[in-house]
Amino acid sequence: MKIPDKIKIVGRDIKVVWVPDLVQQDDIVGQAAFRYDTIRLQSNNAGLIKTPQSLALSLLHEILHWAFFLMHEDKQNKDEALVSRLSEVLYQVLHDNQLRF
Ligand SMILES: [Zn+2]
Repeated sequence: MKIPDKIKIVGRDIKVVWVPDLVQQDDIVGQAAFRYDTIRLQSNNAGLIKTPQSLALSLLHEILHWAFFLMHEDKQNKDEALVSRLSEVLYQVLHDNQLRF
């Protein structure tokens, strides 16, 4: 899957940007930056090489954070275990069934 430069979530344009030192800054590989209409993803660099599957999972994870944020579901948005499990399930269903809408 090619990671897009921007994505529309519930009618809102969200930029997808690559950050070379997200792991070093905050010990994370993705971030839904709500104030900046952005999803930030750790870029591949010498210290961290992510697989296409791992990048897709990170993108789905941040999309779900955005979805909960836009639905004003703050409790679910802050539930990292829920967001992680949902992104894994969504990825598997989309990938295993080769679904594109
Ligand atoms: Zn998260």
